[in-house]
Amino acid sequence: MTDTAQETTGLGNYFVANYPPFSFWKPDHLSTAKEALNRPPQPDSPLGLYLHIPFCRKRCKFCYFRVYTDKNARDVEHYLDALVREIELYSQMPIVGGRPLHYVYFGGGTPSYLSATQLTGLVERLNRFITWKQAKEVTFECEPGTLQQHKLVALRDLGVTRLSLGIENFDDKILEANGRAHLSAEIYRAYGWARDLKFDQINIDLIAGMVGETWDNWKECVRKTIELSPDSVTIYQLELPFNTVYSKELRVVGQDEPPSFSVADWPTKRAWVSYAFDEMGKAGYRVSSAYTLIKGGGQFVYRDALWHGADMFGTGVASFGHVNGVHVQNVDTWEQYIAMLDKGEIPLGRALPVPPEHLLIREMILQLKTGRLESAYFQRKFGVDILDRFADGFAHLADQGQLTRTNGSVEMTREGLLQVDRLLPTFFEPQHRGTRYT
Ligand code: SF4
Repeated sequence: MTDTAQETTGLGNYFVANYPPFSFWKPDHLSTAKEALNRPPQPDSPLGLYLHIPFCRKRCKFCYFRVYTDKNARDVEHYLDALVREIELYSQMPIVGGRPLHYVYFGGGTPSYLSATQLTGLVERLNRFITWKQAKEVTFECEPGTLQQHKLVALRDLGVTRLSLGIENFDDKILEANGRAHLSAEIYRAYGWARDLKFDQINIDLIAGMVGETWDNWKECVRKTIELSPDSVTIYQLELPFNTVYSKELRVVGQDEPPSFSVADWPTKRAWVSYAFDEMGKAGYRVSSAYTLIKGGGQFVYRDALWHGADMFGTGVASFGHVNGVHVQNVDTWEQYIAMLDKGEIPLGRALPVPPEHLLIREMILQLKTGRLESAYFQRKFGVDILDRFADGFAHLADQGQLTRTNGSVEMTREGLLQVDRLLPTFFEPQHRGTRYT
């Protein structure tokens, strides 16, 4: 591929969420996953819980998640019954080992699609099997247009500490063109209520490169975000994985026929994120990863735990988890998910046991996304000097100006950090390179 082609936002995955790539996870490994669940946990490994709420009001044109926009109230209740059953089954497994939950994450889809009554009922039922009273963080993702004041009161009373608002952009035309269900007035209404209710942390999600984005509008988005003064800001660069509405259009139009939309190229999206980093830096935020800025001494417990190898029960249709050194993913259709739980089975669909060498690569590449690696951490945990073990990869990226090495640490440059996902395959084992990622 030429440099120019690489810099165009074309079809395919950019974001590296895990290692080894998902395409290596197989149903054949499910017996290993079940053994892992039946073993006590590794000492000092925290335990987290992810709950996937797969409902949305509309499907955003760039969305590649397993979501449903056509389910009725009965379907939702049936799904929540299954979710409770799944968590009950997990709560009885030896892997729990008496550990309290260290973090909880309600993701989606749109968790805030659920009504206050549904949420309260769900948590009451979950509390028969688990509690998050001792958790350091309980995150709840929200689509601004689904929030009402009483729902936010319920969320705060249920113990949500980190409210994550999927704002993505402040311009109504861009929001509409990209298929978002909310408009800017709903952003301000929801944000005001959330602030008044004093959640520990409010995060705002933005996307750099939505269709229709311009420099002028992006600057306004950054300005308006700073004006709202959230505790943290997450910015993703728009990508076009294969199963989005946009990708389908790109695939059906003929070679000579231009698509009806265009997405900014990668250098432009990086320049937009870099601008946001600079402006938010002036406003008191620090860059805490390639995608996140945090104000003051704030933390993002879920991310840090995952990137340091914590266990996590991934519950809900198609959810990903990690248990005792084994990657797991649930079955990815509604019907299979409900049917397996109706039979009282944990609804795993595929798994991958991860040998220590791959666990090391996984943590190294995920932590590289924070912009900094401490070799002492890896020496302690894996007994490996990463500066030596990955010397060739670090040297290659250092030659390109993407990172610098000091005695005992590695630091990404701004340029490197802004395209870190593209650089991470440098550290993949040969059999994991050049293959389909998902
Ligand atoms: S709100 Fe989020 S999960 Fe739902 S369709 Fe849009 S991007 Fe996908």
